Amino acid sequence: MSLLTTQSLSKYYGSKAALEGVDLALEAGAPIALVGPNGAGKTTLLSLLCGFIKPSKGKITILGQAAGDPALLGRVSCLPQDGLLDPNFTVLQQLSFFGRLQGLGHRQAQDEAMRVLTLVDLQTVAQSKPTTLSHGMGKRVAIAQALMGSPELVLLDEPTAGLDPANARAIRELVRAQSANTNFIISSHNLDELEKLCGTVLYLEQGRLTQSLSLEQQGGASFLSLSMQSCE
Ligand code: ATP
Repeated sequence: MSLLTTQSLSKYYGSKAALEGVDLALEAGAPIALVGPNGAGKTTLLSLLCGFIKPSKGKITILGQAAGDPALLGRVSCLPQDGLLDPNFTVLQQLSFFGRLQGLGHRQAQDEAMRVLTLVDLQTVAQSKPTTLSHGMGKRVAIAQALMGSPELVLLDEPTAGLDPANARAIRELVRAQSANTNFIISSHNLDELEKLCGTVLYLEQGRLTQSLSLEQQGGASFLSLSMQSCE
């Protein structure tokens, strides 16, 4: 099943190309890694896919709809690099509020909030404010929010950045466990942490997609498959 396609996708800020001529054709299935150095255009690409910003040129189709189409509400969710948690409300209050925005009733929203907190093993922090949580716990709560309503596609912008190894591993294990039901695109500076998790790797450099690789997972090891293709 086609997950998303982009054609000649570009984003300019003045004369600066944050993203230039990106063509993607991604299938639903194993998580997809979006890898590249600082300033490569990873956040720009994820923001375009979420509909947070509009392309300067090109076209995006996600699950058969144009990016940003209201029909994708609840089907696609995004965890921005800096998260979305408000320090003034408890974890349960803000996850429930997010559920209400998705059209759930008060009780349903609370139940859904507790369900996703259980997925990230943080049901005990439901009544806590985000300021009392460690950085890693805050990230996991933000991922829980992204999982509210069981979206079909979840975009995670550098979810393990700045995390200690244990929390980074917990997030990778969470993605692995959820990937049976949900499609993920995860950005990172380095492939090492994602290669055992992902089926496809997209390399961005200076706003251009330079390579798209398929990884075959065999017995815990990953191999570049014959479908490796250079985009240059
Ligand atoms: P990082 O790993 O550091 O988060 P990134 O791969 O996510 O980097 P982007 O944040 O997408 O890269 O930025 C790509 C380029 O576009 C960079 O040169 C950045 O400075 C530029 N850029 C991004 N957003 C804007 C903006 N709002 N205005 C001007 N330039 C921008």
